[in-house]
Amino acid sequence: RRRYGFVVVANRLPLDRITDERGEQHWARSPGGLVSALEPIARSAGGAWVGWTGGPDDDTEPFEADGVYLRTVPLSGEEVDRYYEGQSNSTIWPLFHDAVEQPAHRREWRIAYETVNRRFAEATAEVADDGATVWVHDYQLLLLPKLLRDLRPDLRIGFFLHIPFPPVELFIQLPRRAELLRGLLGADLVGFQQPLAAQNFLRLTAQLLDLRPHGEQVEYQGRTVTARAFPISIDVSEIDRLAADPEVQAEASRLRRELGGDRRLLLGVDRLDYTKGIDQRIEAYGELLADGTVSNDEAVLVQVATPSRQRVAQYQQLRERVEREVGRINGEFGDVGRVPVQYLFQSRSREELVALYLAADVMLVTPLRDGMNLVAKEYVAARRDEGGALVLSEFTGAADELHGAFLVNPYDVEELKRGVSAALRADPEELTDRMRRMREQVWEHDVDHWAQEFLRALGRHPLSATP
Ligand code: UDP
Repeated sequence: RRRYGFVVVANRLPLDRITDERGEQHWARSPGGLVSALEPIARSAGGAWVGWTGGPDDDTEPFEADGVYLRTVPLSGEEVDRYYEGQSNSTIWPLFHDAVEQPAHRREWRIAYETVNRRFAEATAEVADDGATVWVHDYQLLLLPKLLRDLRPDLRIGFFLHIPFPPVELFIQLPRRAELLRGLLGADLVGFQQPLAAQNFLRLTAQLLDLRPHGEQVEYQGRTVTARAFPISIDVSEIDRLAADPEVQAEASRLRRELGGDRRLLLGVDRLDYTKGIDQRIEAYGELLADGTVSNDEAVLVQVATPSRQRVAQYQQLRERVEREVGRINGEFGDVGRVPVQYLFQSRSREELVALYLAADVMLVTPLRDGMNLVAKEYVAARRDEGGALVLSEFTGAADELHGAFLVNPYDVEELKRGVSAALRADPEELTDRMRRMREQVWEHDVDHWAQEFLRALGRHPLSATP
């Protein structure tokens, strides 16, 4: 059996199973920056990717695609419920996002989480070559670095957390919290989106395990573990290429015409998730209409809300809240053939999103908490015309970098309203100046830069000649 010098481990494989018009199934590369950044590295390094196909009881054998060995990890239907929807998305996800919704704790979820993490660790140990570099991703696999190190002490292990890492007071609410922390300490390098997250992690090692962190490092079981921020980004040139495409530009013009020609377009694009501040944003827009700051004739809000985690109760409740509020606002302030909020409970392709970004005068990104928020960076990358304005929550990783945005606290509805109306009323020179600054930042830090920085810091870059 072949073994690989570079292994990516993530909950999902970089492919999605697609059913075409004829009902035939095949695999297509998943959209998004992470896959487009890591796949070429895995391919040139002769690498492997360990992950789940996304389907319950899927017994697809490991296979090779585009020069990458895909080591499938099967999950039973019960494990999908307990490890994925339970422990990952109903315990860790809300707790790590400031507990904006109440995290649930169930013993059987925690046990399934450990079982599945162990299965991932065994699969990784099987495909990794001697001394291989392993890069583990995200909150579904917090225990994996330790479980893998126990099996394979020779490996160089990096871990990157794509979501926020909570303050000490929140983390210690987790049952078996020290075990989770030891899980992460199995890595040589633990990467976070923001410096504060790395500090939270190091502080916890002192509080729960009596370790003595110094700077960004901590000694643990005779090894040095480094915790540092590596803010993730997007494939900037891909977005730029789409934004330059005449068909995408024509679609942007068509959207503007359809929405009512001279109406200013405000845009939100989010998974329908309670961390995204969608209800706060719509409520603020309703108040702006009610107090006459904006009118249905002069502006329209388009909200793309992509279906997500629909089997989890909190997501169903959020959907009901949002749809009720949209209905109320449209009923109260709308007209025949013209409503103030166009709500799309749909997933859109990247081409369609870029057309919307190009058409939007104001982009609204108002999460209550978000590890990074890639939509904010995509909007900036799409604006080759240096037009448009970004209203951005302070509580996103992106706010550390996009200083040209109108920053808001989404919990403060007055401030949210001020941010939106400032963005709508700002003069064009100010907007160009803000957008230029953000574009420089985004162009200098794309997702490839992010991956290279992380692997360099890990110390054993799979593509560098010297180990
Ligand atoms: N996205 C998409 N279609 C949609 C909505 C979102 O392709 O209908 C993409 C979007 O372009 C972005 C990603 O999904 O690349 C969302 O990333 P973000 O960091 O903003 O939020 P997340 O969903 O990861 O919490």
